Amino acid sequence: MKGKISGVSLGPGEPELITLKALKALQEADIIYCPGTQTKSRSRDILQALPINMERVRLFHVPMSKDRTLANQTYDSICTEIAALVATGKNIAITAEGDSGFYSSVNYMFDKLASMNLPITTIAGVPAFIAAGAISGLHIVKQEEKLVVLPGIITAEELDSLLTSGHVVVIMKLSQCTSEIHRFMQTNRQHEFHYYENVGTINELHSTNYEDIIQKDYPYFSLMIIRPGKQLA
Ligand code: SAH
Repeated sequence: MKGKISGVSLGPGEPELITLKALKALQEADIIYCPGTQTKSRSRDILQALPINMERVRLFHVPMSKDRTLANQTYDSICTEIAALVATGKNIAITAEGDSGFYSSVNYMFDKLASMNLPITTIAGVPAFIAAGAISGLHIVKQEEKLVVLPGIITAEELDSLLTSGHVVVIMKLSQCTSEIHRFMQTNRQHEFHYYENVGTINELHSTNYEDIIQKDYPYFSLMIIRPGKQLA
């Protein structure tokens, strides 16, 4: 008798943006693994606002660093724990913020469990940039426009080439490219800059004000949607 394992996407912050399917998987789980610490966990904040039993939630801390060695050690030990629980018939949920298919490090765990013959069912969620578009009533891509989603690793020149060829650009992990964005904006005022912070939380912020956006320090939970504007003569 083996338990089930679900990768449950929670949406970007607003509890009501979770899907019914994801909520059901959480309610059916005996143990819910959730990234974060006692004092800081966006995923736990979302779980707390939902009708689920918080006693089933196990927080785990993932060290944040470009070098993934320590993070992967944490994930490996949780996978071993999960394998033992599943063998006794327990249902497990592993949460991911937004949609688990977008820049989510828990995929390392999903792959590891699959390699241990413990396949995961992933449940879709609303990615942060989709929720961002909605709070500002933005028609993110129109007609034949193309969308490019970037993980904060970008130069001003690459942005220029994408936007001048008519692409709409989403930049996640904005804090990783603050100075490049500032540099790009200095000579490219013609584009539409839509800046978002903490979408779906009480600290939500949305701005299209060029002067504000160009001098801001971008926090971790921020993103930008840039729509191409006409080149000034
Ligand atoms: N899986 C997530 C993305 C994880 S990567 C998703 O589908 O949205 C983390 C990045 O996502 C952050 O650096 C930020 O750019 C963006 N992000 C996630 N939640 C956000 C929120 N509530 N408001 C603004 N940006 C958010």
